[in-house]
Amino acid sequence: MEYEAVIGLETHVQLRTRTKMWCGCANEYGAEANTNVCPVCLGLPGVLPVPNAEALRKTALTGMLLNCDVPSYAKWDRKNYFYPDNPKNYQLTQLDFPSTIEGFVDFEFGEGTERVRINRAHLEEDVGKSTHFADHSGVDFNRAGVPLLEIVTEPDLTGADMAYEYLNALKAILEYGGVSDCDMEKGQVRCDVNISVRPIGQTELGEKIEIKNMNSFSGVRRAAGYEIERQIGVLREGGTLVQETRRWDDAVGITESMRTKEDAHDYRYFPDPDLMPHTPSEEWLAEVRASVMELPLARKRRLMADFQLPASDAEVFVGDAALGDYFEVAANGAKNPKAVANWVMNNLQAKLVETGGSVADVKFEASAIGELVGLIEGGQINSKIAQDVFVKMFESGKSPAAIVEEKGLSQVSDSGELEAFCNEAIEANPGPAEDFRNGKETALNFLKGQVMKASRGKANPQMVGELLKNILGS
Ligand SMILES: [Zn+2]
Repeated sequence: MEYEAVIGLETHVQLRTRTKMWCGCANEYGAEANTNVCPVCLGLPGVLPVPNAEALRKTALTGMLLNCDVPSYAKWDRKNYFYPDNPKNYQLTQLDFPSTIEGFVDFEFGEGTERVRINRAHLEEDVGKSTHFADHSGVDFNRAGVPLLEIVTEPDLTGADMAYEYLNALKAILEYGGVSDCDMEKGQVRCDVNISVRPIGQTELGEKIEIKNMNSFSGVRRAAGYEIERQIGVLREGGTLVQETRRWDDAVGITESMRTKEDAHDYRYFPDPDLMPHTPSEEWLAEVRASVMELPLARKRRLMADFQLPASDAEVFVGDAALGDYFEVAANGAKNPKAVANWVMNNLQAKLVETGGSVADVKFEASAIGELVGLIEGGQINSKIAQDVFVKMFESGKSPAAIVEEKGLSQVSDSGELEAFCNEAIEANPGPAEDFRNGKETALNFLKGQVMKASRGKANPQMVGELLKNILGS
């Protein structure tokens, strides 16, 4: 019997905000333990939470970027459980009226595009962090109360690689939207992976097994790959699977059973009595909607279509949005946008790396790169001189035409002048000249090089080649 995998992902993303979700403590990674805490995020008796407006805005924006609806009513629920890193003994979350619902993400997979439906993206709060030492454990509450968005897919993913590509696409969208820094090293993105298998053709889902708290996408891919094989193996041997939570051991490369999965009723959810529901107005939603930007995949396709760029170039500009913006200005109206892309990706980026600057620091107008390409293509300068012109542009901010004029770098295309250079080169190098006459083609390159040198790189190389051939009589 053949089996297929069904995967759904719950991705927890820390929002980029100045302060925590319900208090004014800094939302800051790496501070000394228990320094960004207050009575609210420590859950002391008698305190009242105040919602973070920026977190609400970024949640709505995320919903829009994920093609979700943003309902005009959302409420807060307490999810009750005891754990040392959870000082309030409950976590504020959104059970039945989340902030955003029913969207989708399109992403590239293999040769085509896949769509995964988004069930919801709801807002909740992070918990503290436990650290286990040799003889005791410590807990740091700096992270407790940091706004956390949980993005839940429908079980539409059919394999480990597909799950991996979806996660990369999701991360790109969140970064583009400025919603989260998505720094995996800092634990800003964590995933729970729900996996089941079923015989191909069966519509009913198999027993769902959840792998908790994955903190790398490659880990998700490996864990899902392992778990799919394991589950199919159990069924093939006539065994049964039970709904449970498992832990991924990255070093060994296996999953291990942690506990049988709890059901929602175990958490005794109830509406939070201290918080008003969030009821966004039309005006507020319109304001958020105005900041929705083009998604990475859409931008990639547009760059390929509008500027005839290969996919790899478009990906560079999508991956670095500021560089992409710069390229679009530089290539606007350019006859050869691919050549402009090369200058931006190679020369400009190299200079920025060298100087530690960003595109915002570039002194010349972006359109100057298009002009530089125009000078090369129009034969005013050759590509070697163009390299020098570019360096001077970068240093001075002057236009390429001004630099060429000022430094007398115009390509020599005057045949009389070039002929004189060629004759000199032939006279000074009778050996190679003779070699060429005797059929040694490569000798021409040597002579050409001598002419270029004599003209300090300004000679039109194509004309030099032709003139030398004429003079040498071939
Ligand atoms: Zn606090």
